[in-house]
Amino acid sequence: MEKINDSQSDWVHLDVMDGSFVPEITFGSKFVADIRGCSALPFDTHLMIDHPERMIEGFAQAGSDWISFHLEAAVHAHRVIQQIRSYGKKAGISIVPSTPVHALLPMLGELDLILIMTVNPGYGGQAMLDFCVDKIRWLDEIRREQGHRYLISVDGGVNNDTVDVVRNAGVDIAVAGSAFFQAADPQALVSRFKYGRAES
Ligand code: ZN
Repeated sequence: MEKINDSQSDWVHLDVMDGSFVPEITFGSKFVADIRGCSALPFDTHLMIDHPERMIEGFAQAGSDWISFHLEAAVHAHRVIQQIRSYGKKAGISIVPSTPVHALLPMLGELDLILIMTVNPGYGGQAMLDFCVDKIRWLDEIRREQGHRYLISVDGGVNNDTVDVVRNAGVDIAVAGSAFFQAADPQALVSRFKYGRAES
């Protein structure tokens, strides 16, 4: 966590995996509560879990500031958004590469964040899937046309080589896992993500 705190990152992104919605298992709300005191940065919790409605309360009480769940994992997605809001948290939805972005259309006005997965979730270190970048472009266009307030975030394969592509597509937040933790100079990477150039 020190590495993140010292890097000028704006958020801490937490990938929660349940071994069902995605093959791997990472951690639950107890872990989030345990590390909450280790950083003053907002916690952006990405729930890659089935039945997210069962876990919203736990992650909200653990200290998540933003909670995103997967459209593919929730039948009543609109209700889950309201559930997240009921705890005073910012609500986001994520979609996997195979889900058309138009599926979010009915809920665009309700969302604080849309998290576009540009790899199939479950493992770190994968290459970005180019066709997912079109979803970011579409979301940015419709946001301007319709006056929505959601932020667009991108998760998967974002690194020094791909960050300009997603930035030009209209993304607000770039999530880095492997690129950050394997970087020789994480602060330079964050600076490149935020300002388009490396400064450390
Ligand atoms: Zn994530």
